[in-house]
Amino acid sequence: MHDFEITPREAQRRREVTGAVLVDVREEHERDTGMAEGARGIARGELEQEAEHHFHDRDTRLVLICQSGARSMLAAEALRRRGYRNVASVCGGTLRWIAEGLPMVRPEPPAQPRDEDFHQRWSRHLLLPEVGMRGQKRLAMARVLMLGAGGLGSPAAFYLAAAGVGELRIVDDDVVERSNLQRQILHTDADVGVRKVDSARARLSALNPRMRIDAVAERLTSANVERLLEGVDVVIDGADNFPVRYLLNDACVRLGIPLVYGAVQQFDGQVSVFDAGRHRGVAPCYRCLFPEPPPPGAAPNCSEAGVLGVLPGVVGMLQATEALKLLLDVGEPLRGRLLHFDALGMRFRETRLTPDPACALCAPGVEFPGYIDYAAFCAG
Ligand SMILES: [Zn+2]
Repeated sequence: MHDFEITPREAQRRREVTGAVLVDVREEHERDTGMAEGARGIARGELEQEAEHHFHDRDTRLVLICQSGARSMLAAEALRRRGYRNVASVCGGTLRWIAEGLPMVRPEPPAQPRDEDFHQRWSRHLLLPEVGMRGQKRLAMARVLMLGAGGLGSPAAFYLAAAGVGELRIVDDDVVERSNLQRQILHTDADVGVRKVDSARARLSALNPRMRIDAVAERLTSANVERLLEGVDVVIDGADNFPVRYLLNDACVRLGIPLVYGAVQQFDGQVSVFDAGRHRGVAPCYRCLFPEPPPPGAAPNCSEAGVLGVLPGVVGMLQATEALKLLLDVGEPLRGRLLHFDALGMRFRETRLTPDPACALCAPGVEFPGYIDYAAFCAG
């Protein structure tokens, strides 16, 4: 037994005699079947994230209990790291509490019927302290703009739908072609000739019927870019072409929205997060890297260059990962870092990116220069 593990009987004694607070750290649906008498229900994720909110005084005597003793122990360790000195964990958890014949109570039925679908669908997120109920609700409130329902957009949109993002605005004016199917896994053979946004909506709704999907069959231009970015928390560039990339970058800087950039060619991919709009002079924008697109003809023709089908899958999923981290505000985003992926060598490499103090777009104090519609010379 760990030095701060105690028996169920000792937990009961401490609550009754020393006034310790017994906290059941299991998820709400687990507590529904019954809790140790006198316990307060606070799910582990919420307790670890918001300990100070629940227990202002770090000297509070706390006794944590879960199902079998593992989660309460981890939660106790986490609270101890945050300065809570009097935290114990019940060895064997609620199962041992019951086995020893100690009293149980059923929680009061909630005032509102519980959303079973929500709890079941995201149970594996709810178990993560970094996500938990708070993070999952945050995702449910989020709106993501997915520019392009192609090779990058397919895996990204699938995982955002699966993760519980509340609303996805998908912008793509193309129809599905047979040559797309090698990498654009949102679409099936039966969708050839169908608008990509319609095919994407059907597939994503089938995966997560709770997600609102705003399917926009338009080409992104300087005229509609700000309308399409309205109310959006994160933008994912899944278009992988210069005119769209510069428009998205410029609009994201102007409107203060993080842009998750991804690009693929043959066997190589790149990912980064451009967040200069919210971090002027600290985080770079795409123009800090490449002030202007190369002249038409200088870049290889994408349709001739070819791409290994799985490559945009890897890059799109890295983009989805970054988008979820930004929405949840967890971890370390790829801000100011360019990640290169070499599929043939199976290597990741990282380059530091710093903001260009002379950037015509994002340098502090620079006035917005206006949008530019570059000629399309390479469609994603
Ligand atoms: Zn810049």
